[in-house]
Parts: sequence; C-alpha cells; structure tokens
Amino acid sequence: MSTSDDEGDGAFTRSQALFERVARTIAGGESSYARLKKGLELCFDHGEGSHFWDIDGNEYIDYSLGYGPLIFGHRPKKIIEAVFEAVNRYGTVATFPYDLDAEVGELITELVPGVDLLRFANSGTEATMAAARLARAYTGRSKIVQMEGGYHGWADTHFWSSHPDVWRPEVSPYSPVPRPGSRGIPACYGEALLIAQYNDREGLAQLFERYGDDIAAVLVEPVQCNTGVILPEPGYLEFLREITRAYGALLIFDEVITGFRLAPGGAQERLGVVPDISTFAKALGGGFPIAAFGGSFEVMQLEATNQVMHGGTYTANVVALAAARAVLTEMKTRRQEIWSVLDGYGERLREGLAEACRSAGLRCLVQGIGPVWHIFFAKPDAPDLERIRNYREAHAYASIELFDRFHRAMLARGVYFHPYHFERWFVSAVHTEDDVRRTLEAAAEAAQEVV
Ligand code: PLP
Repeated sequence: MSTSDDEGDGAFTRSQALFERVARTIAGGESSYARLKKGLELCFDHGEGSHFWDIDGNEYIDYSLGYGPLIFGHRPKKIIEAVFEAVNRYGTVATFPYDLDAEVGELITELVPGVDLLRFANSGTEATMAAARLARAYTGRSKIVQMEGGYHGWADTHFWSSHPDVWRPEVSPYSPVPRPGSRGIPACYGEALLIAQYNDREGLAQLFERYGDDIAAVLVEPVQCNTGVILPEPGYLEFLREITRAYGALLIFDEVITGFRLAPGGAQERLGVVPDISTFAKALGGGFPIAAFGGSFEVMQLEATNQVMHGGTYTANVVALAAARAVLTEMKTRRQEIWSVLDGYGERLREGLAEACRSAGLRCLVQGIGPVWHIFFAKPDAPDLERIRNYREAHAYASIELFDRFHRAMLARGVYFHPYHFERWFVSAVHTEDDVRRTLEAAAEAAQEVV
C-alpha cells in the first residue's frame, strides 16, 4: 500500500525536496542527532506492519523499527485502538493516580524479576538520569561506572565515552577518565563517572580496588546494543552482580533496548541476573513515548518517601500508559507466539545474513541475541576475531566503508536497517516469512555487489 501518487522507482526526488524544506526550520532536518545521516535524507510517508514507505513511494522491509520501539510493527492496531479508547475515556493527562497506573505497574512488576516498585518517565534518557540519582542517594557515593561504547541517553550526566575517537592519540590508550560526547557538557559531570571496558573483569576489579568507596553503581546495558550488539561473555553479568555487592555499590541495568524485547522480563529474565535498578523505554510503549525505572522495595523507598526527587508533567500520561498496558498485555498473554517469531526470525536472519556475506567472500561477524543483532564487516587489516567483546575491538575490526556500501545496496533492494555502523538491527513480532526470504535474497545480491 502506498499513499504517494506514484509507485516508488528508487528515486528520492520528493524526499530531497521535503528534507530541504524541513531543514529550513528544523535544525539539521532532524530532531535527534541519532537519526541524522548525511547523504541519506529519506522522508517518511507511512508505515504498516513490518514495512514503511518513503514519500517517493519506495517500500522497505524495516529492521530499524523507529529505532527500537515498534516491536509490534508500524501502526499496531490493538495498541492504537487501546490508546484511542483510553483518551476517550480519561482525556490525556490524569491529575491524580488512576487505574492505568495500577494496571501497568502490576504488569511490569509481574513480568520483570528485579522490579518491585517503579516510576514512569517520558524517555530512556530521563529514566537513566533518575536511576543514577537514586543509586547515588541510596549509597551516599558519587561515582557511576559506565562502559565505553555504551549509551544511556544524551544528558550531560551520562553522554560520555559513548563512541570516543579512539584513533586519536590523546584518546587512546584506554583510560577510566570519561570523554564528553558533545560540546557544551561541563567537565564537572565527568568527575562523577568512571569508564570501564565491557566484558573486562580485571579492569573493573581494578577500578573497584582504587575507587570502591566512592562508586555508587555500575550502569550497564546488559547486552551492549550501542556498539553494534556485544554479548556478555559467560559469567560476566554474574561478575557485575557479585562485585557491586561486595563493594556495597548498586547494579543498574539499562534495559531501554533489551527490556520487553529479549523476553517479557528483559535481559534480566533471559540471562538470569537481577540488578538493583532497571530502566526501560522503547518496546514498553510499542511506539508511544513512555519510559520507566524501578527496583527493589528497599532502594525504591527513597522515591516512595520523596527523599529522592523525580518528576515530570507528562509522566504516566494516558496515551503512554494505555499503550504500555496494551503492549504488556499482549506480551503476557501471547508470550510464546510472540517470542517464537522474534527469536525464530532473529536466528534465521542472523544465520542467513552471515551466510550471504561469507559466500560472497566478505569477512564479517554477526552478533546478536533473540530479535536484535548487528553485522560487523571486517576491515582488510582487521584481526581474525571469534567475536567482538568491547568497543575497542569493534573499532579495530569494523569497516565503516563496507557497512555503508552494504547499507546502500540493501536500501536499493528495499531493506532498511539503521544507517549508522554501530547501531543494530531489530526484528518485530509482525515480520513475515516473506520478509525473511526477501531480506536474505537481497543480502545475497548486496554482498556480491559490495565485495
Ligand atoms: N539507554 C539506551 C541503552 C538507549 O539505547 C537509549 C536510546 O537509544 C537511551 C538510553 C535513551 O533513550 P531515549 O532515546 O528514549 O531518551
């Protein structure tokens, strides 16, 4: 289905014209730095299920899913109907607690092992800021350990060492001193952070030996999905759990990507390690803006008694909670059906994409779990790695040029995934056999073109 006048013919004439118009009033043409990719100024027309159309009428199988939230695809009928119904019933903003608070709170605490009490927020950035403040208040300590290559939102307090320029001599070799991710971030925020390498137990143990009395928490994506996809090595999450406990620090899982995606209870359910505090966004709203943070009764008492301040005019608004209730109800009642699609197609696409690239002679690593993965294409001089374990290795291994060429070749064949070489692919619960077949056919051709 297309609402454009013409069927797409691979041209981007209308996209280019609209992008120029948008950019006359919207700085850079996009309201998120993460969506801006020079040379790929596509403008959106509409989405339906696992596909979307640009305004030139070109159709794509979508593996970006609005950067993660669309776990039930574009325009998910049940969620949209639930939102309309709730707005008709309640209005848009509730002045006091209401039954949706209770219902969504009950669903989350039932599904997520590490959450006894929670609060709603509007974005993953906010939820993570709230979680870090809570950890600092609970422990009375100031420093948060984050992983190089991780991402916890764009706030001054966390947007550090996300993707540092490690090829620059002053940034390499690795140091626990964080590097700001943007101009305009005051240096003082960096003083409250330490940077570790994901999967590096020894390095983290040394940080704890040196700064243990001052470390409030380790804040980590349980599967690092902001440098492609990097899996925790066996025992790594358990190690994080143990070392934080041993030093009286908290463990915060940023489950903004993994939450309600790796399982209804997120990475903590699937991988079996329960943090003290968790943050959620993306899949929780199925495309509507909502986030949450929560943890044990003991830690969350500081929120319950207002000793730690967290707020927001729009937190727990009707649209957000109605969407989350519909998403979580689906996940609870159709769990098996949903995860057999997410995991099944995830697995087949990972295997098929790796096979397509390798048969064409492209060296690559395809890493992922369940419905999320990434393809790292090897630079000509890249070491032969079995897997990528952290940002430094990703950097040494991954070819941006090959990634970009593969991305363009797939786009031309109607397959869209995130255009940045360190983001990731998502599959939804509404992708189909036909999508998988077409994607793998496209990949076989694209790989031949790129090699
Ligand atoms: N945490 C992680 C792991 C993320 O991937 C993101 C966004 O991609 C965020 C936090 C920030 O979430 P938001 O964009 O909703 O502010």
